[in-house]
Amino acid sequence: MTVEAPARHFYFGSNFKMHKTLAEDRAFIQTLLDLNASQFDLQLFIIPAFTSLGGLQDTPRPRNLWIGAQNMHWANSGAFTGEISALMLRSIGVDLIMLGHAERRHNFGETDIELNKKAISAAASQLRVLLCVGETAEQRRYGVTDEVLAMQLKIALSGYPADCLERLMVAYEPVWAIGAGSQEALPEDIAPSIDQIRHTLETLFGQDRALHIPVLYGGSVNRDNCGGYVQHATVDGLFVGRAAWQPEGFMEVMQTGYNAWKRKRGGN
Ligand code: PEP
Repeated sequence: MTVEAPARHFYFGSNFKMHKTLAEDRAFIQTLLDLNASQFDLQLFIIPAFTSLGGLQDTPRPRNLWIGAQNMHWANSGAFTGEISALMLRSIGVDLIMLGHAERRHNFGETDIELNKKAISAAASQLRVLLCVGETAEQRRYGVTDEVLAMQLKIALSGYPADCLERLMVAYEPVWAIGAGSQEALPEDIAPSIDQIRHTLETLFGQDRALHIPVLYGGSVNRDNCGGYVQHATVDGLFVGRAAWQPEGFMEVMQTGYNAWKRKRGGN
């Protein structure tokens, strides 16, 4: 059966990690408004610290900006001191949950099985899920990148409800390319991994549904290299850390990446 490629949309977002107070996040969003970020026909998102999530709900923001959280527990409530549930995040209007960021996997020992429980719980609460996957430098050296990506996706998305797929996105973030001091990936480095991610999503959800799931690239993306990453036919956006932590940088990388993405697809 031939499946028609879906009309693709562009996504651009940043994980602020453990940076920025509520006042700083509000100032960031105000600058996005001042720079007229909502004029672009694309989806933006930022993922600030928990302490900002409540306060940002009544902060004016561009209409195309989602606010996300960096972590959650899989239970709705219970004896889990220090944790926050999907239900709680939804109750204050949070749009998106990032799951499986490399820092959570590697610094806090988060497993694929835990991520699966979180993904299912997030889906049940109607949260959008941004699932991060990626191999370490060591796994890459051993030549098991495809296996690692397939395993991360198959476990984390096992039993993920088909009627929630429209709220699922995947970010490919090779661990060796993330953060200060890392190695910058070349566009040709990421292409086989994006293909492997698409292939695994097809295995899980079928070709048609898989094609509609946005796949983003993240890892040392900046103004100079962003255009290369969006050359791949099924990269739907960019997930950026350091280069997007200032609103001017956010706008610059977003516009450069978006323009390259549009050019690649024959737009202006
Ligand atoms: C990240 O940590 O997920 C990330 C993409 O960071 P950076 O862009 O700074 O490499």
